[in-house]
Amino acid sequence: MQISQQIKDKFKNSKNILALTGAGISAESGVPTFRGKEGLWKQYRAEELATPQAFFRDPKLVWEWYLWRMELITTKSPNPAHFALAELENKRSNFNLITQNVDGLHKKSGSKKIIEIHGNIFRNRCTDCDKTYDSDLLILKNSTECPNCKSIVRPDVLWFGESYDTDLLNQAISLAEKSELVFIIGSSGAVGIPVELARIAKENGAFVIEINTDQSGYSRYADLFLQGKAGEILPELIPYFV
Ligand code: NAD
Ligand code: ZN
Repeated sequence: MQISQQIKDKFKNSKNILALTGAGISAESGVPTFRGKEGLWKQYRAEELATPQAFFRDPKLVWEWYLWRMELITTKSPNPAHFALAELENKRSNFNLITQNVDGLHKKSGSKKIIEIHGNIFRNRCTDCDKTYDSDLLILKNSTECPNCKSIVRPDVLWFGESYDTDLLNQAISLAEKSELVFIIGSSGAVGIPVELARIAKENGAFVIEINTDQSGYSRYADLFLQGKAGEILPELIPYFV
């Protein structure tokens, strides 16, 4: 890939750098995205299951889907795109990572400063007392009862139609405001708030680079669109960061 001198200078001179990742960055690890056809489970689309309404209507069905996803993710490993971002964190003290992913693969690849704005599939939260627990697949398969108050626990992830955690959202907004260089990687832009982060970054003068196999809802904010797989493109860019 040809990188222009202008881009190399951006890499060199940008102090605050932000990466915002979506399901596409984990696609090459074998974790299905939501919008691809492999994102279907039984006859359901993700949007039909990842909602509070679906959960309270049929908790067993929604839990079955989450247990299937957890089991699948447990067998997957980070790919070169995750590792490239972990390397960037080591190279630059002002690099930050915001992910919409709930799969924990960034952490597995060695990234430490991660804002998981949509939660983590390997954590549960009680629907009543709000206590959180690390997910234990074996226990969950037998019971989804809160050990503290006996109500039902749910995956500690953000479902469609739910509000963001205010602290996390404020942190994300302030990173978007102050970052000079922003990478948007593997996200469709179907979810409003992450796109809003890109808009805020752009409005505050950031240089926005999008990496995606296809155009997305973010593309209008991108100064540079790098079309292709994150696992192939990102490792090529990291050597330019010194
Ligand atoms: P999405 O499924 O809506 O879109 C995936 C995007 O990735 C698409 O734009 C697609 O073109 C792109 N893509 C696919 N393969 C790619 C590759 N190899 N390299 C670069 N780009 C690639 O994902 P989203 O925008 O993150 O939104 C879905 C929501 O679902 C998020 O909230 C996320 O938390 C959740 N989700 C998470 C996971 C996960 O944790 N791995 C998986 C599925 C969905
Ligand atoms: Zn409880």
